[in-house]
Amino acid sequence: MRSRITIFKSLIHIFFPYTCCGCGTDLLAENILFCIYCQAAMPLTCFEYFPSNPIEKIFWGRVVIEAAAAHLYFTTGSAVQHSLHLLKYKSKKEIGIYFGHRMGETLIHSCRFSKCEIIIPLPLFSAREKKRGYNQAGLIAFGLSQRIKIPVIEDAIIRVKKTETQTHKSRIQRWKNMESTFEIRNPQKIYGKHILLVDDVITTGASLEACARVLLSIPGVRISIACLAHTVSA
Ligand SMILES: [Zn+2]
Repeated sequence: MRSRITIFKSLIHIFFPYTCCGCGTDLLAENILFCIYCQAAMPLTCFEYFPSNPIEKIFWGRVVIEAAAAHLYFTTGSAVQHSLHLLKYKSKKEIGIYFGHRMGETLIHSCRFSKCEIIIPLPLFSAREKKRGYNQAGLIAFGLSQRIKIPVIEDAIIRVKKTETQTHKSRIQRWKNMESTFEIRNPQKIYGKHILLVDDVITTGASLEACARVLLSIPGVRISIACLAHTVSA
Protein backbone atom coordinates (compact mmCIF):
# COMPACT_ATOMS: atom_id res chain seq x y z
CA MET A 1 0.00 0.00 0.00
CA ARG A 2 2.78 2.39 1.01
CA SER A 3 4.66 1.73 -2.25
CA ARG A 4 1.49 2.54 -4.23
CA ILE A 5 1.17 5.86 -2.41
CA THR A 6 4.86 6.58 -3.10
CA ILE A 7 4.42 5.82 -6.81
CA PHE A 8 1.30 8.00 -6.95
CA LYS A 9 3.11 10.86 -5.22
CA SER A 10 6.07 10.49 -7.58
CA LEU A 11 3.75 10.74 -10.58
CA ILE A 12 2.09 13.85 -9.16
CA HIS A 13 5.56 15.31 -8.59
CA ILE A 14 6.44 14.88 -12.29
CA PHE A 15 3.50 17.03 -13.36
CA PHE A 16 3.37 19.37 -10.36
CA PRO A 17 6.93 19.58 -9.02
CA TYR A 18 7.64 21.18 -5.66
CA THR A 19 10.01 24.04 -6.21
CA CYS A 20 12.22 26.10 -3.92
CA CYS A 21 10.60 29.42 -2.95
CA GLY A 22 13.99 31.09 -3.24
CA CYS A 23 15.53 29.86 -6.50
CA GLY A 24 12.83 27.74 -8.16
CA THR A 25 14.93 24.56 -8.19
CA ASP A 26 13.14 21.20 -7.93
CA LEU A 27 12.59 19.91 -4.39
CA LEU A 28 12.07 16.30 -3.37
CA ALA A 29 9.56 16.90 -0.59
CA GLU A 30 6.41 18.99 -0.53
CA ASN A 31 6.75 20.26 3.03
CA ILE A 32 10.06 22.04 2.45
CA LEU A 33 9.99 25.68 1.31
CA PHE A 34 13.65 26.28 0.49
CA CYS A 35 16.42 24.13 -0.95
CA ILE A 36 19.49 23.50 1.19
CA TYR A 37 21.49 26.06 -0.77
CA CYS A 38 18.93 28.85 -0.25
CA GLN A 39 18.56 27.97 3.44
CA ALA A 40 22.30 28.13 3.97
CA ALA A 41 22.77 31.24 1.85
CA MET A 42 20.09 33.42 3.50
CA PRO A 43 21.83 36.81 3.83
CA LEU A 44 21.66 37.30 7.60
CA THR A 45 22.33 40.81 8.91
CA CYS A 46 22.92 39.79 12.56
CA PHE A 47 21.62 43.29 13.44
CA GLU A 48 19.58 41.71 16.26
CA TYR A 49 22.71 41.47 18.39
CA PHE A 50 24.04 44.99 17.93
CA PRO A 51 22.88 48.37 19.21
CA SER A 52 23.28 51.32 16.83
CA ASN A 53 22.81 49.00 13.86
CA PRO A 54 21.63 50.46 10.51
CA ILE A 55 17.93 49.88 11.32
CA GLU A 56 18.17 51.70 14.65
CA LYS A 57 19.98 54.56 12.89
CA ILE A 58 17.01 54.98 10.51
CA PHE A 59 14.91 56.10 13.50
CA TRP A 60 17.49 58.27 15.24
CA GLY A 61 16.10 61.78 15.72
CA ARG A 62 12.68 60.67 14.42
CA VAL A 63 11.01 58.53 17.06
CA VAL A 64 12.17 56.81 20.27
CA ILE A 65 12.77 53.10 19.64
CA GLU A 66 14.18 50.74 22.30
CA ALA A 67 15.75 48.26 19.86
CA ALA A 68 15.34 47.57 16.14
CA ALA A 69 16.64 45.04 13.64
CA ALA A 70 16.05 43.46 10.25
CA HIS A 71 16.77 39.75 9.95
CA LEU A 72 17.90 39.57 6.30
CA TYR A 73 19.28 41.77 3.55
CA PHE A 74 16.90 42.31 0.63
CA THR A 75 18.50 42.72 -2.78
CA THR A 76 17.05 42.71 -6.30
CA GLY A 77 16.88 39.26 -7.90
CA SER A 78 17.71 37.46 -4.63
CA ALA A 79 16.01 34.45 -3.06
CA VAL A 80 14.68 36.82 -0.40
CA GLN A 81 13.00 38.99 -3.04
CA HIS A 82 11.58 35.96 -4.86
CA SER A 83 10.15 34.42 -1.71
CA LEU A 84 8.65 37.70 -0.49
CA HIS A 85 6.98 38.11 -3.88
CA LEU A 86 5.38 34.66 -3.41
CA LEU A 87 4.32 35.64 0.11
CA LYS A 88 2.75 38.97 -0.89
CA TYR A 89 1.24 38.25 -4.28
CA LYS A 90 0.90 34.46 -4.68
CA SER A 91 -0.77 33.53 -1.38
CA LYS A 92 2.22 31.46 -0.26
CA LYS A 93 1.34 32.19 3.36
CA GLU A 94 3.57 29.53 4.87
CA ILE A 95 6.60 31.60 3.85
CA GLY A 96 5.52 34.27 6.35
CA ILE A 97 5.26 31.73 9.15
CA TYR A 98 8.63 30.19 8.18
CA PHE A 99 10.38 33.56 8.27
CA GLY A 100 8.64 34.43 11.55
CA HIS A 101 10.09 31.24 13.07
CA ARG A 102 13.57 32.11 11.79
CA MET A 103 13.35 35.64 13.18
CA GLY A 104 12.09 34.27 16.48
CA GLU A 105 15.04 31.88 16.83
CA THR A 106 17.43 34.79 16.38
CA LEU A 107 15.57 37.10 18.76
CA ILE A 108 15.64 34.39 21.44
CA HIS A 109 19.44 34.37 21.21
CA SER A 110 19.64 38.15 21.39
CA CYS A 111 18.87 39.57 24.82
CA ARG A 112 17.99 42.94 23.27
CA PHE A 113 14.33 42.04 22.58
CA SER A 114 13.56 39.99 25.69
CA LYS A 115 11.50 42.73 27.36
CA CYS A 116 8.90 42.90 24.57
CA GLU A 117 5.44 41.89 25.85
CA ILE A 118 3.19 41.92 22.78
CA ILE A 119 3.64 41.81 19.00
CA ILE A 120 1.82 44.16 16.64
CA PRO A 121 2.18 43.63 12.88
CA LEU A 122 2.23 46.85 10.86
CA PRO A 123 -1.41 47.14 9.72
CA LEU A 124 -2.36 47.14 6.04
CA PHE A 125 -5.10 49.42 4.72
CA SER A 126 -8.30 47.38 5.16
CA ALA A 127 -9.24 47.33 1.44
CA ARG A 128 -5.77 46.05 0.54
CA GLU A 129 -5.89 43.36 3.23
CA LYS A 130 -9.36 42.31 2.07
CA LYS A 131 -8.14 42.02 -1.54
CA ARG A 132 -5.04 40.02 -0.56
CA GLY A 133 -6.91 38.03 2.08
CA TYR A 134 -4.21 38.46 4.71
CA ASN A 135 -1.55 40.80 6.04
CA GLN A 136 1.90 39.38 5.29
CA ALA A 137 3.34 41.17 8.34
CA GLY A 138 0.64 39.43 10.38
CA LEU A 139 1.83 36.01 9.18
CA ILE A 140 5.43 36.84 10.08
CA ALA A 141 4.21 38.09 13.48
CA PHE A 142 2.28 34.87 14.04
CA GLY A 143 5.36 32.72 13.27
CA LEU A 144 7.45 34.95 15.52
CA SER A 145 4.90 34.64 18.32
CA GLN A 146 5.07 30.84 18.14
CA ARG A 147 8.81 31.02 18.85
CA ILE A 148 9.16 33.85 21.36
CA LYS A 149 5.88 33.05 23.16
CA ILE A 150 4.34 36.51 23.38
CA PRO A 151 0.89 37.27 21.92
CA VAL A 152 0.02 39.03 18.67
CA ILE A 153 -2.48 41.90 19.00
CA GLU A 154 -4.03 42.87 15.66
CA ASP A 155 -6.90 45.11 16.72
CA ALA A 156 -5.13 47.81 18.73
CA ILE A 157 -4.22 50.02 15.76
CA ILE A 158 -5.57 50.24 12.21
CA ARG A 159 -4.45 51.87 8.98
CA VAL A 160 -7.12 54.32 7.85
CA LYS A 161 -5.37 55.74 4.80
CA LYS A 162 -3.90 54.15 1.70
CA THR A 163 -0.37 55.44 1.16
CA GLU A 164 1.78 55.55 -1.94
CA THR A 165 5.34 54.26 -2.04
CA GLN A 166 7.75 56.36 0.02
CA THR A 167 10.96 55.47 -1.78
CA HIS A 168 11.35 58.51 -4.01
CA LYS A 169 9.98 61.10 -1.60
CA SER A 170 11.91 63.57 0.51
CA ARG A 171 11.80 63.21 4.28
CA ILE A 172 9.20 66.00 4.63
CA GLN A 173 7.07 64.56 1.79
CA ARG A 174 7.22 61.13 3.45
CA TRP A 175 6.13 62.59 6.77
CA LYS A 176 3.19 64.46 5.13
CA ASN A 177 2.24 61.35 3.15
CA MET A 178 2.01 59.33 6.36
CA GLU A 179 0.13 61.93 8.40
CA SER A 180 -3.10 60.56 9.92
CA THR A 181 -2.46 57.11 8.44
CA PHE A 182 -2.89 55.11 11.66
CA GLU A 183 -5.52 55.26 14.40
CA ILE A 184 -5.69 53.55 17.77
CA ARG A 185 -8.47 51.10 18.54
CA ASN A 186 -8.78 49.27 21.87
CA PRO A 187 -6.09 51.31 23.71
CA GLN A 188 -6.69 49.26 26.86
CA LYS A 189 -4.90 46.34 25.17
CA ILE A 190 -1.61 48.22 24.90
CA TYR A 191 -1.45 50.54 27.96
CA GLY A 192 2.02 50.36 29.51
CA LYS A 193 3.19 47.62 27.15
CA HIS A 194 6.53 47.12 25.43
CA ILE A 195 5.42 46.47 21.85
CA LEU A 196 7.38 44.61 19.20
CA LEU A 197 6.27 46.21 15.93
CA VAL A 198 6.77 43.83 12.99
CA ASP A 199 6.93 44.40 9.23
CA ASP A 200 8.18 42.51 6.18
CA VAL A 201 10.53 44.94 4.45
CA ILE A 202 12.03 48.19 5.70
CA THR A 203 13.29 50.81 3.25
CA THR A 204 12.79 54.37 4.51
CA GLY A 205 11.04 53.34 7.73
CA ALA A 206 8.36 56.03 7.20
CA SER A 207 5.36 53.71 7.78
CA LEU A 208 6.92 52.16 10.89
CA GLU A 209 7.80 55.62 12.21
CA ALA A 210 4.23 56.87 11.70
CA CYS A 211 2.76 53.78 13.35
CA ALA A 212 5.22 53.97 16.27
CA ARG A 213 4.37 57.65 16.85
CA VAL A 214 0.67 56.83 17.20
CA LEU A 215 1.34 53.85 19.48
CA LEU A 216 3.61 56.00 21.66
CA SER A 217 0.69 58.36 22.30
CA ILE A 218 -0.67 55.69 24.67
CA PRO A 219 0.74 56.10 28.21
CA GLY A 220 3.56 53.77 29.18
CA VAL A 221 4.07 52.29 25.70
CA ARG A 222 7.59 51.47 24.51
CA ILE A 223 8.43 50.27 21.01
CA SER A 224 10.95 47.87 19.53
CA ILE A 225 10.96 46.97 15.83
CA ALA A 226 11.66 43.69 14.03
CA CYS A 227 11.58 43.57 10.22
CA LEU A 228 12.20 40.59 8.05
CA ALA A 229 14.38 42.30 5.46
CA HIS A 230 16.28 45.53 4.92
CA THR A 231 16.56 46.85 1.37
CA VAL A 232 20.07 47.60 0.23
CA SER A 233 21.12 48.87 -3.18
CA ALA A 234 22.68 46.10 -5.29
ZN1 LIG B 1 16.69 27.40 -3.54
